[in-house]
Amino acid sequence: EVYGGPIIATFTDRDLSLAGRISYKDDQNGIVSQLVTFDRPLLRLPNLAIHMNRAVNDEGLKLHKQNELPLILSVLADECLPQAYFSELMQQQSGCDAERILSWDLAVYDTQKGAFWGGNSEFYANSQLDNLASCHAALQALLDDAVLESGNTLVCAFFDHEEIGSESNKGADGSFLTDVLQRIALASKDNREDFARTLAQSFMISADMAHAYQPNFPLAYDPDHKVTMNKGPVIKVNANHRYSTESVSQAMFVDWCEQAGVPYQKYSHRSDLACGSTIGPITSARLGIRSVDVGNPLWAMHSIRESAGVLDHGYMIRVMKRFFGKLPL
Ligand SMILES: [Zn+2]
Repeated sequence: EVYGGPIIATFTDRDLSLAGRISYKDDQNGIVSQLVTFDRPLLRLPNLAIHMNRAVNDEGLKLHKQNELPLILSVLADECLPQAYFSELMQQQSGCDAERILSWDLAVYDTQKGAFWGGNSEFYANSQLDNLASCHAALQALLDDAVLESGNTLVCAFFDHEEIGSESNKGADGSFLTDVLQRIALASKDNREDFARTLAQSFMISADMAHAYQPNFPLAYDPDHKVTMNKGPVIKVNANHRYSTESVSQAMFVDWCEQAGVPYQKYSHRSDLACGSTIGPITSARLGIRSVDVGNPLWAMHSIRESAGVLDHGYMIRVMKRFFGKLPL
């Protein structure tokens, strides 16, 4: 099955592998889980040769999800059953007996390492920059020694399932963040009124990626809201609150950028195209916390190989440090 909304054609002819979690019975008959990654090219989706698909460059590469996406793993001998073969592979990789393995969540990923590119190496390319880049920036900002010494309660929340609507026990539409904040308040002997006041005084930066202007496709963008690579974090605005930004939260983020010496840009999607959403509106609504949606410029969102700007990543870390209460050096 296809998870979320990838640009499927970009998955062809790549050195794909598998990673995820398996669950199995241990010696005491308990169910335990283990992370597993095959860490080598294991699967492939070979393109059809141009000789059988002459129209591909004019009509684009279209792949039928049911019939044309199964990935090639091996050519099996007649007597070998596919399931048994796959169980054997999982056993080799996890060190766990095949007959003990009860279930697994495995997803395909690209084994190619990230790379810097451009005349001055000012860009970087990798898979899943949307949205691991913002997660990395936020964590870098939080783990700064001076930030950690601040007296405030600082939270970095990384949610699964944003690409599929966030409705799961660990997604932003689940109770996890509310529960954790409540438990922090309880551990501080706060009562319900204290907790409500805490939320009212809190602020959330919802950081995902933004669509950088790609000059070959000028018509894909609102001409007055183009954002440029390496010109700073982007404040994302949508009148129908697909992004959580409003004027007050926007002003606060602009102020933090200015204090941190970080340039910023503003983005609105073309009015005649549906824009994506983020966890911003969901989390802000659940908690009643004021929020702004921001993100760094990105090319090829949901391609297996996305690109972003090196400077922008540093800028994002700087402004997040400022947000967490510590002016950058
Ligand atoms: Zn996305």
